[in-house]
Amino acid sequence: MSNNPYGWIEESLETIHRADWYRSVKTIHNRPGAKVMLSGYEVINFASNDYLGLAADERLKQAAIKAIQQNGTGSTGSRLLSGHLELHRELEQMLSSTKQTEDAVVFSSGYLANLGAITAIVGKRDLILSDQYNHSSLKNGAILSGAKVIEYPHCDIAQLTEKLHQERQNYRRCLIITDSIFSMDGDLCPLPELLDIAEEFSCMLLIDEAHATGVIGKTGAGCSEHFGCTGRELIQIGTLSKALGSLGGYIAGSNSLIDFLRNRAPSWIYTTALSPADTAAALAALKIVQQEPELRQQLWQNVNDLKQLIKEHLPNLKLVPTESPILCLQLPDAATALKAAKHLQEAGIFAPAIRPPTVSTSRIRISLMATHERGHIDQLVNALKAMQL
Ligand SMILES: *Cc1c(COP(=O)(O)O)cnc(C)c1O
Repeated sequence: MSNNPYGWIEESLETIHRADWYRSVKTIHNRPGAKVMLSGYEVINFASNDYLGLAADERLKQAAIKAIQQNGTGSTGSRLLSGHLELHRELEQMLSSTKQTEDAVVFSSGYLANLGAITAIVGKRDLILSDQYNHSSLKNGAILSGAKVIEYPHCDIAQLTEKLHQERQNYRRCLIITDSIFSMDGDLCPLPELLDIAEEFSCMLLIDEAHATGVIGKTGAGCSEHFGCTGRELIQIGTLSKALGSLGGYIAGSNSLIDFLRNRAPSWIYTTALSPADTAAALAALKIVQQEPELRQQLWQNVNDLKQLIKEHLPNLKLVPTESPILCLQLPDAATALKAAKHLQEAGIFAPAIRPPTVSTSRIRISLMATHERGHIDQLVNALKAMQL
């Protein structure tokens, strides 16, 4: 036995390296956009969550600058103490009107919104049913809540129903949790069926609209709108950091739910309020989402163009079927995924390899933006064609 109590860290890192699971940061040198400088080379960016290209939008920048000038750089305290600004309430009202819910509350990140909501609404006497492909923030929120957690196979309504038949009666409350657009696969949860099951078994349903907010649905309100489920009782969580180009998270739902969370969600109560700049930028983004549906139309045009080109030119590629701007190219193992990402990067394409433990199977993940031009998409298709795996 080595007597260095920290010695295990180096050993663990070596194991991570051996499995091709090692990850490190890559520096982006200019402002976000369809083209970025990555490690000194200009690449076309298919790795961003900035679906509408708003993170570099002049209007968001000006809104953030104005908020800093009026309210400073830090919000100085938690919302319940010194940190609450008029701007926070304005953003929450804009979110609830977009979502068509009674109210909404903003958190410092989407991750914290999930931790806060789940730990506040269920505990030791309760049951959580969780899709196996859920985002880390949902999974960790479930663990932290102390509830009994059962994972069901990805989007498998029959299995979910069976587990509810077996287990529901043994617990006080029950919460079903799921990504609405799955972050690493790009497919959609079967929301109408989930709502029906939740009703049948008297369960609460929580959906994570991180990749759906601003992206899907007629007005960009997310999967609830896409599936025509607006107005049904549901807990909706999302982020301000993807299509809204800012930072922060939100929960939208009934008056009583939001009021309860303001009193019971520890990751809201005991953390500093969202900064004035982030708040103002998200508010500006929501206005653009509402007023400029053409941004969303351009994004979906790009998605359809890429899918069509792949169908025509790369019939042998194994794509996960999706209905979102996230397209995944399935690969046999982590080493192949790394090789593919390297090949693409040499061809001027930034599309990352996603490997275990983030996902169970390795892949190249491509995400599209409204600001991609047809030439960018053609270049991606050419690079994929030239790829020898
Ligand atoms: C990105 C993401 C989050 C976390 O949101 P942040 O605001 O970045 O903390 C939560 N859930 C899903 C599904 C995500 O993709």
